Amino acid sequence: MKILATDLDRTLLPNGSWPPDSGAIDLFNELTARHEVVVVYVTGRNLRLTEDAIEEYGIRHPHVLIGDVGTSIRKYDQHGWVAHTGWDAHVRQASPEWDGDAIRFAVAGVEGLTEQEREHCGPFKQSYYVDHDSHETILEAVGERVKGRFDEVIVYSHDSRSGKGLLDLLPQSATKQTALEYIADEFGARREDVVFCGDSGNDVFPLTAGFSGVLVRNADDQLVASVRQAAADSPQLQVYFARGDFQGLNGYYTSGVIEGAYHYGVFSDPL
Ligand SMILES: [Mg+2]
Repeated sequence: MKILATDLDRTLLPNGSWPPDSGAIDLFNELTARHEVVVVYVTGRNLRLTEDAIEEYGIRHPHVLIGDVGTSIRKYDQHGWVAHTGWDAHVRQASPEWDGDAIRFAVAGVEGLTEQEREHCGPFKQSYYVDHDSHETILEAVGERVKGRFDEVIVYSHDSRSGKGLLDLLPQSATKQTALEYIADEFGARREDVVFCGDSGNDVFPLTAGFSGVLVRNADDQLVASVRQAAADSPQLQVYFARGDFQGLNGYYTSGVIEGAYHYGVFSDPL
């Protein structure tokens, strides 16, 4: 059982400021099909924006979509997308204090915090735009109002392309990490047999949770530092930093995903 899980924006998708390899996405599609890999997308995008990415960049459909930063899970088969209702039930049971409306009320009025559009929020996701220059003060204010009251976790990331700070409040049981653990269990895969690739903020959890981690070459400095620290603290953590110069690929985005998959033996034959 080989599971290749990857973040989308600036990990599988070449939508940052580094140069992408032309043909890398076609290669990813071909390699994952040929090796019969279970492909999981783990993204902050909702279903509509994921479909936009599939259309725009030509990435294949995944077998499983962990969307909305881990708060929704869907499978894709010959009939299309199927919501994973078991996941919703699991989250409600595992995080009984979670209450998105109460959180919305609690943080209302924090300066520099703007609620995201309704399509970016959901039953298990309360999300905000944050003025990045004052994100530390804002995060502190949010923490004071919610911390420990709602079985919540507070995840901050910075979108280097738009310059926006993004704040997600999620149930502790419904993050990119826990959703991927749930899927690994469902497929009967050991943690180390799941390769997870990421580039920024909210990827730190799955990258330090015992999966076989890959940081694409364009990963944020902050993420690289956090993951290096975690690896120093826990020597059993498996992490690979894509560096390029691999079979003619430069290590950015999709190329880094392919490089990492080869590193862990998900793909084995020569390119
Ligand atoms: Mg990303």
